[in-house]
Amino acid sequence: MNKIFYIANWKMNKTFNDSESFINKLVPTLDNADDKEVVICPSFISLAKLDSINRFDESVRLSFGAQNVSDQKYGAFTGDISVEMLKDTLSKYCIVGHSERRMLYGESDIQINKKIKLLIEFGFVPILCIGESLEQRKNNEGEMIISNQLSSCLRDVSTKRLIIAYEPIWAIGTGQSATVNDISQMNSNIKKQMNKLGYMDDQFYILYGGSVNIDNVKVLKTAKHINGFLIGGAALEVEKFLELIKR
Ligand code: PEP
Repeated sequence: MNKIFYIANWKMNKTFNDSESFINKLVPTLDNADDKEVVICPSFISLAKLDSINRFDESVRLSFGAQNVSDQKYGAFTGDISVEMLKDTLSKYCIVGHSERRMLYGESDIQINKKIKLLIEFGFVPILCIGESLEQRKNNEGEMIISNQLSSCLRDVSTKRLIIAYEPIWAIGTGQSATVNDISQMNSNIKKQMNKLGYMDDQFYILYGGSVNIDNVKVLKTAKHINGFLIGGAALEVEKFLELIKR
């Protein structure tokens, strides 16, 4: 699949007003090329409010995603947002297993697996984040860690459309991106593992995330099997994000 995704993970940044003014500047300048899909993952609140405004022209190629979802359908889970609630928003995608959630909130592959199953049941496309730590990389365990994360997070999952975001933990927010070689090698491993798990090549996209910016995106695009990027810091300023998409 030759499509290129540019997925902005805004994390806990931007109020609704900030989100709205970003999107108002972004939409008129987006080109509607068939091979590009731009996805914004704002806060839950912005997602809901943007939906109520509901003034996006069908021809605009801008999609939305959530940054997280509960692994439970409903009930006594204070503060959580269920997959059914996400249905009330514009989101088509949902990030799961981001390393910040794994590290700061102790999310396990078992929980991520439950989230993926719920998302698929309710018609969303999961964006599954996987990645090794610096220590695991130094110990040459990267490929094994990634393969294990894929098999546990995707246990008994069957879907025709899935996004895998390879995000080495040591590259996230550090300014130190992985090299094209690192990414190519890992993408080949991801593809092999996905095929082993029963996925055909046209059932999944592989993205890279970790300090992607205007200066390195062009080179990173040359990595093997790459279908786009998950972008944190460089997606917070609309001018920079637009420039990145155009490179
Ligand atoms: C991320 O958090 O998913 C990410 C890729 O962040 P950054 O681009 O800032 O490294």
